[in-house]
Amino acid sequence: MSNLPAPKPKRKSMLSFPRHEAAHLEALFSSIGEGIIATDEHGFITRVNQAALDLLGYRQRDILHKRFTEKIIAVHENGRPLDLLDRPIVKAFITGHSTSERAYYRRKDGQVLPVLITVSPIMFRRKPIGAIELFRDLTNEIENDKLQSDFISIASHQLRTPLSAINMYTRMLQGGMAGKLSEPQLEYTRIVLGSVERMNELIDTLLNITRIEAGGLSVRTEFVRFNLLLRAIVEEFEPAAHAKRIAFTHDIPAELSEMQSDSLLLREVCANIISNALKYTPEQGTVHVSLEQRSNTVLLSVKDNGYGIPETARKHIFTKFFRAPNITTDDVSGTGLGLYLTKALTERLGGEVWFESTENAGSTFYVSLPLTLR
Ligand code: ADP
Repeated sequence: MSNLPAPKPKRKSMLSFPRHEAAHLEALFSSIGEGIIATDEHGFITRVNQAALDLLGYRQRDILHKRFTEKIIAVHENGRPLDLLDRPIVKAFITGHSTSERAYYRRKDGQVLPVLITVSPIMFRRKPIGAIELFRDLTNEIENDKLQSDFISIASHQLRTPLSAINMYTRMLQGGMAGKLSEPQLEYTRIVLGSVERMNELIDTLLNITRIEAGGLSVRTEFVRFNLLLRAIVEEFEPAAHAKRIAFTHDIPAELSEMQSDSLLLREVCANIISNALKYTPEQGTVHVSLEQRSNTVLLSVKDNGYGIPETARKHIFTKFFRAPNITTDDVSGTGLGLYLTKALTERLGGEVWFESTENAGSTFYVSLPLTLR
């Protein structure tokens, strides 16, 4: 759009409204708290509301009838200008589709403002005849997110100390260091240790989520023998499967190309998927883990014949804190964080996660990962 000739200013709009409708629109435009800027087909600003002017620190005459991409400066967090083709408004013009993205705008006073931008092209006979951009100041949201993740991070670290004390003293009791325990007392110590373990896992999950959301999760690439790693994880889950009399089988190749990935993150992904399969399958069910090598990826699949996921819940399954309604009524404990984290970690490892499921028949979760992490 930037190479097109300048428009004749104050052209009559292609769409004309009765006067009172125009007044309604005007009132709507100026009362919306988000910044709104409209452009014509050449990318020249035809309208701007007060919120946009306040957010950017401009007066109307500074930007009206000026080229949008020249006057409204989009930058990276470090202040470096965004390439023209990366600007949402340019993308909307090129593709003819709405787009919504986070970016930073440089205000007139030079300050950088985090914003969420939504641009919709105005299409007429399949051609863009203008665009409307809405943008919202994200400063408070970013500050709140940071406060929240600092809080989770501090609280989680603080919980570790008393938990390790509970763990240590319970093990001492179990080991008979305060006298021989009766069978019910031993059983209670096992329950306490099981809860300590679950709390430690929850703390790990929360810390990983705050790290990944803050962009601070580093991936340490190394050569990994994924087949051996997966076998070890499966073995760790055997007691849990045994306790529910679940037929827990696997088909993991003895030979597999060496992968370049992060074994700790891989472990977390696999453990989450396998533990869910065991958790959401009733007693005496079946869970099957398999691993296949494709050309330059590996595919992990975990198939169970458990409760399955209801149709209405499917699109939310990777959302933070989401738990499907069939599960909450079946009273299986959980937080709804595992799959959210699994998806984020899988994507950090360059892979994808998805599933197929039928309620009351079972689910199969798939994780595809590249052999080499770029
Ligand atoms: P949690 O297990 O702590 O609830 P997850 O994020 O791991 O959290 O899973 C989110 C939801 O997805 C679960 O609450 C459950 O409703 C559904 N789910 C995940 N795995 C399965 C599975 N194998 N079978 C049926 N439902 C599942």
